[in-house]
Amino acid sequence: MGSTEPFWIEINISQLRKNIKLIQADMPKNLRLCSVLKNQAYGHGAVKVAQEMVAAGSSQIAVSTLQEAMELKNAKIHCPILIFGERTSLEIESCIENDFIFFVNDSAVAEISNTIAKKHGKKVEIQIEVDTGLSRYGVRWDSAVEIIESIAHFSHLNVTGVMTHFAMSDELDKTFANEQIRRFDECIEQIRKNKKIAESILFHASNTGGFLDLPTAHYDQVRIGILPLGIYPSKVCRRIEGIKPILEFKSRVASIKNLHVGDVVGYGMHYKATSTRTIAVLPMGYGTGFPRLRNQGYVLICGKRAPIVGGNAMNAMMVDVTDIAETKRGDEVILIGRQGEEQITAVDVASWCGTVCYDILTRLSLEIPRIYKN
Ligand SMILES: *Cc1c(COP(=O)(O)O)cnc(C)c1O
Repeated sequence: MGSTEPFWIEINISQLRKNIKLIQADMPKNLRLCSVLKNQAYGHGAVKVAQEMVAAGSSQIAVSTLQEAMELKNAKIHCPILIFGERTSLEIESCIENDFIFFVNDSAVAEISNTIAKKHGKKVEIQIEVDTGLSRYGVRWDSAVEIIESIAHFSHLNVTGVMTHFAMSDELDKTFANEQIRRFDECIEQIRKNKKIAESILFHASNTGGFLDLPTAHYDQVRIGILPLGIYPSKVCRRIEGIKPILEFKSRVASIKNLHVGDVVGYGMHYKATSTRTIAVLPMGYGTGFPRLRNQGYVLICGKRAPIVGGNAMNAMMVDVTDIAETKRGDEVILIGRQGEEQITAVDVASWCGTVCYDILTRLSLEIPRIYKN
């Protein structure tokens, strides 16, 4: 597999299908699934993941840019596409032409959207985001109802969704998440007083963390990105038995060398051998999007952990294989994935450099060859 490449990513589509099945079996009946596929499905390939999610019955797909939505449409993904965030006035026209669902969070944007929709002779589907505490996109919860009602009055706009987003849904402390739920519930209650407006609206709030840990925040739909990829957003959120990562990042040993006592390794000379060591050099570094590390973390070779030594370079990385005597040039190396009894997850790599797994995954260069296995 990938034998002519110095490094590559393997994506296990049959495990993706298993993960989706396990998630659906865990979902309450009638709960809709919106598949979040932004940033190339966190580096896994948006079109490939979309095909599986739609085949499995996703009711909606969400991305965060117009370009991402166009890519899925051009790939003949037949599913309503929602674009998170805010659109510029120029983008609104493209959204309307292509029937993408976008967010309208204030009356100025509603006015522009309504005018363009009218010009195209369309009644366009839009959603509204309620900011219940993340202080990101959307209308602040305490003035949301008023604005939602005024937006709903535009004759060429059809409000089909009202959503919010959690600041912290996957940690043990759910105090703030529960406060956000309370704020959102208050909005929903007000909106429901106007049956005509409420009728066509789907309410949604939960990402993977909310889906797993906040059943009172499921509403009509959950928006799930990371879980079908087999990754949990935190170490403490609920587990679903059988869900496994589908992505593996691999390379091969380019060369092996022996260090004498006092030899240093890598830019910045962050490692100095205090005994004779055997080092494997890998033909990849932070140029692939793998984080820049210094004497931190490890890779897997021959099913064993080989510690990263020195600072990894743009196109090279050195690992200590003194205790893995069988290592040879050309041996497969696991940067993320499983080998024998050992496993390295994106969450592990994230912990080596003080970030989150989403960051590790979305940084993996799209130029790394992806091999999709069934
Ligand atoms: C990214 C995102 C999600 C998906 O989050 P996961 O933790 O990957 O499930 C859901 N909703 C919004 C608004 C997002 O930006």
